[in-house]
Amino acid sequence: MEAITASLLLLAAQFVGAKTPPAPPRIEVVSQATLQQRFCQGKPCRMEAMHLDGTIYLSETTLAQPEALREAVLLHELVHYVQHVNDLGTGTCIGHRMLEDQAYAAQEFYLESRGIFIEGLRLRAVTLICED
Ligand SMILES: [Zn+2]
Repeated sequence: MEAITASLLLLAAQFVGAKTPPAPPRIEVVSQATLQQRFCQGKPCRMEAMHLDGTIYLSETTLAQPEALREAVLLHELVHYVQHVNDLGTGTCIGHRMLEDQAYAAQEFYLESRGIFIEGLRLRAVTLICED
């Protein structure tokens, strides 16, 4: 996975328009249950991958997906890694939503370049309603 991670990291940085991080992130493969436990208060959420402070957590369910889908999820998280390394988070809900929108846009762009169209993928960030 190292070679594909390196080339997707370049793509993520180009997409964000920011500097390529000097080193790749740490990647940890975990069960989906572990992700749900850690990030969804144990509820059966749809979460399959997560970036947190320079580490990407990928679920076994993501790794079991066809190559293009799996790589698109990794690209999404690498966009978050590039945003993190370049300190692009603003700490606000609107800022978070913009970062999420950028990650979904990159994921959608990658999938479409591989001939895969997922209805409404780009719109997933819209479900994040900011009231602050
Ligand atoms: Zn995201």
